[in-house]
Amino acid sequence: MSMSVAVLGTGIMGSGMAKNLIKAGFDVTVWNRHREKAEPLAEAGAKIAGDPKDAVAEADVVLTMLFDTDAVEGVMGEALPAMREDAVWIQSSTVGLPGVARLAERAGYQGIAFVDAPVLGTKQPAEEGKLLVLAGGPEDLRERVQPVFDAIGSKTVWVGELPGDGHKLKLVANSWVLSIVGATAQAIDLMKRFGLDPQLYLDTIAGGVTDCAYAQLKGKAMIAGEFPPSFPLTGAAKDAQLIAEAMDHVGTRPVIMEALAAQFRDAIDGGHGSEDMASVIAAFDGGGQDRASL
Ligand code: NAP
Repeated sequence: MSMSVAVLGTGIMGSGMAKNLIKAGFDVTVWNRHREKAEPLAEAGAKIAGDPKDAVAEADVVLTMLFDTDAVEGVMGEALPAMREDAVWIQSSTVGLPGVARLAERAGYQGIAFVDAPVLGTKQPAEEGKLLVLAGGPEDLRERVQPVFDAIGSKTVWVGELPGDGHKLKLVANSWVLSIVGATAQAIDLMKRFGLDPQLYLDTIAGGVTDCAYAQLKGKAMIAGEFPPSFPLTGAAKDAQLIAEAMDHVGTRPVIMEALAAQFRDAIDGGHGSEDMASVIAAFDGGGQDRASL
């Protein structure tokens, strides 16, 4: 009998992950708060559950891919008591270090095995089963969860044995990703304000040591002004805040991350929250014209 997996949260990431689990031969049940986002997965072969309890009742593995700690805690508050006692919970939503600790503790109260497994990669890698899984969890669970990781990802990095170990690497990786997006927006905006074609900047760095595929990808979107969500700005703002808090906690000054978080929030206030994080370029509009003419 094939292993059964319940996927809770079929947003941008969760739906791609569920599709690849189905493709890999798992028996997949999905649940989403707004059911209409889960329904298209029925065509691919998923069962659609009416609530989190039904989704997890038979599952060997429960995978959460929800927005933040509060969302996961709310959903798993319902689901945990309904899980089989030998099931494993793979927690892949980006929730930060206090968030992982809270969720692992909840799993512990219920006697459910917990693996911290945030992922790197956005919509396309999720749809192609090419995410990077950054995992933290006990050695003796690894064999059980690895087939799930192999279905959703191209590589798993086991960082350590503790909940939070996966998330530490995830926060570092996202600090880099968010910084590239912010720095690219700054460069594209400055080119425009100097009266230069912003594509000239991307062409100038292309192929050199300062080039970067992500800067090219996001820079192109910024120039075109097209922001279909791969990683929505609301998620980027949440993660920048989580990273800044973690930096503060370990005693390093989060100056860059706090500036980025403020830029993300400004763009959200400008109505770009559900667009891709590349739309952070909109936040450079406030007052920039005056400064450029100095
Ligand atoms: P998304 O498309 O916005 O999906 C968010 C999911 O969370 C949806 O299923 C949403 O349900 C659910 N949700 C939000 N608040 C909820 C609540 N209070 N109760 C129950 N469900 C709730 O976002 P996503 O990009 O897939 O991101 C999911 C997670 O993956 C986030 O933690 C994000 O930081 C992380 N992540 C994202 C990316 C990326 O590039 N997109 C990459 C790596 C990690 P509804 O559909 O009903 O609103």
